[in-house]
Amino acid sequence: MQSIDTYDFKGKKAIIRVDFNVPLNDRFEVTDDTRIRAAVPTIQKVLAEGGSVILMSHLGRPKKNPDPKFSLRHIIPTVEKDLGVPVQFADDCVGAEAVEKAAALKPGEVLLLENLRFYPEEEGKPRLAEGATEEEKAEAKKALKESQKEFTKKLASLADVYINDAFGTAHRAHASTALIAAYFPNDKIFGYIMENEIKAVDKVLENPTKPYTAIIGGSKVSSKITIIENLLQKVDNLIIGGGMTYTFFAAQGGKIGNSLCEADQFDTVHAILAEARELGVRIVMAEDSLCADKFAEDADTQVCASNDIADGWMGMDAGPQAIEAFKSVIAESKTILWNGPVGVFEMDKFAGGTQAVAQAITQATANGAFSLVGGGDSVAAINKFGLADRVSYVSTGGGALLEYMEGKELPGVAAIRQ
Ligand code: AMP
Repeated sequence: MQSIDTYDFKGKKAIIRVDFNVPLNDRFEVTDDTRIRAAVPTIQKVLAEGGSVILMSHLGRPKKNPDPKFSLRHIIPTVEKDLGVPVQFADDCVGAEAVEKAAALKPGEVLLLENLRFYPEEEGKPRLAEGATEEEKAEAKKALKESQKEFTKKLASLADVYINDAFGTAHRAHASTALIAAYFPNDKIFGYIMENEIKAVDKVLENPTKPYTAIIGGSKVSSKITIIENLLQKVDNLIIGGGMTYTFFAAQGGKIGNSLCEADQFDTVHAILAEARELGVRIVMAEDSLCADKFAEDADTQVCASNDIADGWMGMDAGPQAIEAFKSVIAESKTILWNGPVGVFEMDKFAGGTQAVAQAITQATANGAFSLVGGGDSVAAINKFGLADRVSYVSTGGGALLEYMEGKELPGVAAIRQ
């Protein structure tokens, strides 16, 4: 397998799948350029080695072609500012203009292609008229499979080498994230974001220094089951926090008032607890909670035992005892994985538990632990507290990270490794 550090880019055109799916305001200005800045090292590496760059990405979920609201044209000024070089643009990612501009690219130059998802071929999902029959659906799917091959081939023909640097979409088998790699059997590589993500997650998944603690929070048991099952095989401690907690207490006969509860997950909870006992995994749950009389910042609050919450009250954050318990487990850990907040951290009143977890993780990291923070909301939380640069790695992954941690092979990763 080729690597970005050793590949010879001199005189080569590199097509890079980046994740420039950035938020825009009403005036179509980029409001957070984190994802663009993250891709800069890969792009600059190619340019510095004498290559030229063709950038391709999706933006939002356009439903037609073209859909000006979702044009990547809006982000050109930001890409130019972050990269420090002028950026050319092609109005149609596989049109004549893209072909001409790509062919004319000189070393050191950058071309950005229009939104890949203007074409349904990118995702391979047909755009069906409402009320389409099953037969029409099957027909459209078949036709799209064929045109997807053409689309992928056209994208591939623009360049000499393919780089995938979009970890956030690596769990999708789309034209630009996976299928295109087949056209570059000897010239397909991971960009730095992909390399770093894979390295960080593999370190936690395959080679964790013990004791290994996972903190799984968030709202629902149902969305975290597979990851919990996978982690039970590996961790020494599993801290369960957030809204999920109350389904665990309710399943064991606790009184949880109006807290979040998924009654259809009680069997799963019992299975998880039994397996943890069998494997000797210590499960740490919030024994007490900061409860509120409504789901609002101006709610009245009181601390309750998490298995004895009065009707009309709901658990919104870890209580003081729980926070101490979480902190002491985290402090003695050498590998820490954090996915999901342990309270409704978006409201300052209920952010204390999540902030304490974040601080304990940075403290353990300063003492030599390896810490990986991943999954949308824990990343938002660590950013909110300004602690992102004090953990070992913050994943950009979201869905891709979760699937990777669940033990699934990501199509975007497999396509390069094959
Ligand atoms: P998830 O996407 O499953 O990781 O869930 C994240 C969401 O869970 C955040 O928006 C939190 O506000 C929410 N959450 C955390 N703790 C609680 C709780 N005790 N009750 C309700 N929602 C919670």
